[in-house]
Amino acid sequence: MTDPLTGEHLALDLVNTRPSTEDGRVDLLATARHLADWLARQPALRPEAGTPSAADLPPVHAVREHVDAAVHALLRGTRPPKAALRGLTEAARAAPAVRELDWDGSAVTATPRRPGRLGVRLAARLAEAAADLLTDPAIGTLRQCEADDCVMVFLPAHPRRRWCSPTRCGNRARVARYYQRHKTP
Ligand SMILES: [Zn+2]
Repeated sequence: MTDPLTGEHLALDLVNTRPSTEDGRVDLLATARHLADWLARQPALRPEAGTPSAADLPPVHAVREHVDAAVHALLRGTRPPKAALRGLTEAARAAPAVRELDWDGSAVTATPRRPGRLGVRLAARLAEAAADLLTDPAIGTLRQCEADDCVMVFLPAHPRRRWCSPTRCGNRARVARYYQRHKTP
């Protein structure tokens, strides 16, 4: 199984959990175990810690569908579907965070806490990340990887960035170009 691409905006990391591989599109959040593995790679989701079960998957998958629809509409320069924006709002509303204040012995601490089961809390956190992403002016620079069969999306920190990852697609594309140029007729 391919490792998920992480390190982009959290909401894009979520969209990027359905990469295109030699075996077609795969779902890197297909099972509770996959979700647990992905969570372990996402420090931003640590406050929602817990061991996911199969029941936690549908809310996370639903948010992913909505972010995917909105992001791809923006990539095409069109209006994101109303249902996607409404779905994200509803997911965030289902488990809003309240900061729980405490005293750690020397200072007051504030830890965001959400109600509900893990899947609903994760969906709410991811929907909030999506709201940040979709309203960020940088969304205008959103790009899809230029490799032919790659569907990864990213916000390029550098305007010349063309690949989702230099190791995943950059090298592959360079090798393909090399063989194209040196192909025996
Ligand atoms: Zn790529």
